[in-house]
Amino acid sequence: MSENVLAEIKNLRTYFHLAEGVVRAVDGVDLVIKSGRTLGVVGESGCGKSITALSLMQLVPPPGRIEEGEITYYRNVRATPSSNVADAINISKLKPNSRQMRSIRGNQISMVFQEPMAAMLPVRTVGSQIIEAITLHQNVSQEEARTRAIDMLARVRLPNPDRIIDNYPFQLSGGMRQRAVIAMALSCNPNLLIADEPTTALDVTTEARILDLMRDLQQEYDMAIMFITHNLGVIAEMADEVAVMYMGKVVEQTDVQSIFFDAKHPYTQALLKSIPQLDDVMSRTGERKRLQTIKGMVPDPYTVLPGCPFHPRCPEYIPDTCNRVVPEVIEVEPGHIVRCHLYASDIPVAQASEDMTL
Ligand code: SF4
Repeated sequence: MSENVLAEIKNLRTYFHLAEGVVRAVDGVDLVIKSGRTLGVVGESGCGKSITALSLMQLVPPPGRIEEGEITYYRNVRATPSSNVADAINISKLKPNSRQMRSIRGNQISMVFQEPMAAMLPVRTVGSQIIEAITLHQNVSQEEARTRAIDMLARVRLPNPDRIIDNYPFQLSGGMRQRAVIAMALSCNPNLLIADEPTTALDVTTEARILDLMRDLQQEYDMAIMFITHNLGVIAEMADEVAVMYMGKVVEQTDVQSIFFDAKHPYTQALLKSIPQLDDVMSRTGERKRLQTIKGMVPDPYTVLPGCPFHPRCPEYIPDTCNRVVPEVIEVEPGHIVRCHLYASDIPVAQASEDMTL
């Protein structure tokens, strides 16, 4: 599989201007998505994972909007692996309903949401919705689109696809519905599939099957996947690279092995410690143990904390620095970046007032 850059997000800021204040849902995010690879994006609810994905699709719901930053999408990277510069498109500058954006969304970049019922209209058959997705982006007849839809339903391993195509979403089980949604998302052979918690609503057996299916389809189509989840177990199974987000920022990013065996940021370390282990939950004597949690709560979304946004919860907090100086991005090893003062060559000291703003 190639490792060409398919999409690049630089200093993305997506804010929601509400009567109560400004929610900085995404606040200076940098990410790189490579063709044929899986980027896992992990973090607690409200950290900005989904809004980053919606920004990439130009689907940020009002009153949210992209305030700043660039989202560069390399349209024909798979077709022209050696030169992807000529076809660079800055998605952040496109209007959500522009022709160019509509030709990218659902065609070259597709999305699978957590709740399959929200992705499909309950009053229309599964097939009619997949056929519509195909005919909207590809120049094919209804008949050909139906054949392709049946083929896609078979590829996501739904039994009797020529019967299921005429079923309504409510006639399918949760796992079957999610397979149908994946079939719809892949029906135009996208370069990038964004999967936003696609298995959270499913039981563990169905989840394992859907994850297997997604991996197989990725191999088959050589597509990139941006996999959003709060579940580090799923990240371990799916991701090649991992970005850990906290309060709208990427606080650590590296390959999946380094995240699990050499995490640097105290927030990543705390997330890893909070994964339940069988030995931790119950000892050999039968004594029950408490699960480890991250102390404190994520601050309310209107709060702009000075310094490092994780400082009220951080076990490694450096007084008078972490609560005053915004940590810079530091490359601790090639390809491993972290936003934390612990890795600065000199621990910065707060002096100027501009240091105290995010
Ligand atoms: Fe903790 Fe300070 Fe690092 Fe933030 S910058 S994660 S508060 S040590």
